[in-house]
Amino acid sequence: MTPEEIAELRAKRYNGTVVYLHKIHPDLMVLRIKPDFPRPNYLPGQYCTLGLGYWEPRVEGCQAEPLKPEDLTKVVRRSYSISNSIYSEPGILRDMSQDDWIEFYVVLVRENPDGRVPALTPRLFALQEGDRLAIGEKITGHFTDEPVKPGDTVVFLGTGTGEAPHNSMLWDLLRRGHTGKILSACCVRYQKDLGYLETHQKLMAQYPNYKYLGLTTREPGTTGKKYIQDLITSGELENELGASLDPANTHVFLCGNPKMIGVPYKDKETGARRFPEPLGVIEILERRGFQADNNAAKFKGNVHFEEYW
Ligand SMILES: Cc1cc2nc3c(=O)[nH]c(=O)nc-3n(C[C@H](O)[C@H](O)[C@H](O)COP(=O)(O)OP(=O)(O)OC[C@H]3O[C@@H](n4cnc5c(N)ncnc54)[C@H](O)[C@@H]3O)c2cc1C
Repeated sequence: MTPEEIAELRAKRYNGTVVYLHKIHPDLMVLRIKPDFPRPNYLPGQYCTLGLGYWEPRVEGCQAEPLKPEDLTKVVRRSYSISNSIYSEPGILRDMSQDDWIEFYVVLVRENPDGRVPALTPRLFALQEGDRLAIGEKITGHFTDEPVKPGDTVVFLGTGTGEAPHNSMLWDLLRRGHTGKILSACCVRYQKDLGYLETHQKLMAQYPNYKYLGLTTREPGTTGKKYIQDLITSGELENELGASLDPANTHVFLCGNPKMIGVPYKDKETGARRFPEPLGVIEILERRGFQADNNAAKFKGNVHFEEYW
């Protein structure tokens, strides 16, 4: 494709500008996009799409991508939760009315041996500040803090960049002066993958009702090598929270890796509701009296979840 053809496609297909891009390390970043359209109102926890043309360069070291000539002019779009850096300056919670951008927290998926070749993240990681991309005008999703009542205990459990929507909800709860206990735990491979760790440490120092736990699976982190499931079954979550996980006044939010969440499914033959293997958090919590949302049946429980794949 010629530079002129690429410039024309970009002008026609893109509607947003990267106004900030911070690489926490080469495979993890926070980026802010300013849409060409007025930033729509949204609920903390919701998501929209980002997109780039297949004509864009990809970072090195990613799985080879077999592209057909007819794909080259297409735009690949994926969903991204809206994240939040929470502070605008030390000690001051962000005033969103002052911002005209939307924040995202993205991990580079270098390969996917079992399915489609990752198309978007290898291209997102080649972006620089000032570059253009496509951003969906619709911000949507059921995964929000709407069901939380003042004084409720709120537990956010995420894997990797699954803490993005939790950061938005956390910002909202703190801004509203939420008085109940709030705990956010995020499970990553290495401590360097906790992209917002410093922010959470400052928040803990400022808000006595807030606790952040970074769990690492490949090195001892703040809590030792541990998965989210272990945190609950060992009783450590409740110790850290300083309260029992009481379904009567607790909302649990789960986001990221589907294996951590463990969404129940309907058995094809018997129609019975079954839980997947390995043991996920929904099964652990339902055994303790919690009930997961069923978005298809519009049922709102006290366990809310968003799967990233
Ligand atoms: C509602 C929703 C919100 C999302 N929000 C975010 C977000 O805030 N940040 C983010 O990084 N991703 C998020 N994702 C995942 C995102 O949409 C893409 O799937 C991901 O960025 C990979 O894009 P890709 O085109 O490179 O690979 P894809 O073709 O989309 O995915 C290929 C494979 O990569 C793996 N994968 C996908 N996402 C991740 C991930 N985050 N971590 C590890 N492995 C993954 C899965 O095995 C997947 O099958 C979200 C997904 C959904 C459905």
